[in-house]
Amino acid sequence: MIVTRRTTFRLYPTKSQESKLHYWRRLHKDLFNACLYHRKTEYQRFGNSISYYDQQNILPDFKECWHEYKELGSQALQATVKRLDYAFQRFFSRLGGYPKFKSARHYRGWTYPGISGWKAHTTGDNGYLELSNLGQIQMRGKARTWGTPTTCTIIWKQAKWYASITVNCESKRETSTGAIGLDFGTYHAVACSDGTIIDNPKFLANTQQKIEQASKKLRRKRAPNFKKKIKASKRWRKAKKQISKLQSKVTNQRQDWQHKVAAQIVKNNSLVASEKLNIKGMTRKAKKGSKRKHQKTGLNRSLLDVGIGNLISLIKYKLDEFNGVFVDVPLKIAPSQTCPRCGHKNKKELSERVHNCEVCNFVADRDVAAAMVMLNYAKGLGTSLSNADAKPLSKTPQHCGGFRKVQQVKRQKPRT
Ligand SMILES: [Zn+2]
Repeated sequence: MIVTRRTTFRLYPTKSQESKLHYWRRLHKDLFNACLYHRKTEYQRFGNSISYYDQQNILPDFKECWHEYKELGSQALQATVKRLDYAFQRFFSRLGGYPKFKSARHYRGWTYPGISGWKAHTTGDNGYLELSNLGQIQMRGKARTWGTPTTCTIIWKQAKWYASITVNCESKRETSTGAIGLDFGTYHAVACSDGTIIDNPKFLANTQQKIEQASKKLRRKRAPNFKKKIKASKRWRKAKKQISKLQSKVTNQRQDWQHKVAAQIVKNNSLVASEKLNIKGMTRKAKKGSKRKHQKTGLNRSLLDVGIGNLISLIKYKLDEFNGVFVDVPLKIAPSQTCPRCGHKNKKELSERVHNCEVCNFVADRDVAAAMVMLNYAKGLGTSLSNADAKPLSKTPQHCGGFRKVQQVKRQKPRT
């Protein structure tokens, strides 16, 4: 089965290459802003809606006027125009705010959506990236499986350059026919129906302390204030850099952990059942005066630590590679309140950690019992899997990206 995989390589440009990369990045930024200005003014002054194709068709004339854009490659320019179009689509479907003008500092890079304009001289292990009109850039990184490169995105992040390359490749994933139920993130990170418990990694707690110490140092330095025209001090910038370094370390550790856990689960199972997780509701602040406030804070903290939403979408993605099935167990099944052996329902408080059935005397860890109920539900669907609650896996999970995304969604107010 052919699948699409993404690998990120670190780039090591020479000094002259780097200044050119930055120059191109700014050109792309200016193009993005120009297109935004175009759409905005046309609408405000003349009431015209400008579409992506209107702007794409102007690009050749645009390049005749601004010669410096010629060496960037027309497909890459189209991709930047497309990026603005996505921002507007998000806005129109009420998923995001009105697109903003971007500053050079916050503009990350650009994409080659096809195979023209770049070439990867690699077999998935280090090598060179060749960009038209720029030459070969050394790159380091390792792909688990390599194939035919399809797209390439150049990213500038924390003063480093990266190339994120997607390839079409033959999926080689070890699988077996097992089935498992999973309960996420109340007390343990993951509790499996076979009794395995994967605990929360404590990386964030450890690094959090360091981040807090560093933030304390930062507060003592001169911060920038654009209104009062105060520039940031060198020491402030240095401290800021240290914090973002720590934060990206946590992100990397978290992603690494998620991939490992997801791979481990998918390795032995082709059917995974889990409760439909309402992360938005689960991570919401407890109501004022609620008795569960402390429990709620603890729950939120551990859920956010681990990034459950992302973990689930990784499991789905890995399952999807060999047509595995992910079953969403509906909330009305109430896995944590039901006995996996006899089906007797008994309401438990959040603090009760052990499932002890009063009817059939079945004893198990609370979360493991819940996972077993979910597995039973999924097995009960039997051959009718496809027409039951097992929806086909969507390629682009809308709200299971990062928690920042989830929070943005949360903050939205309906427009009237
Ligand atoms: Zn029972």
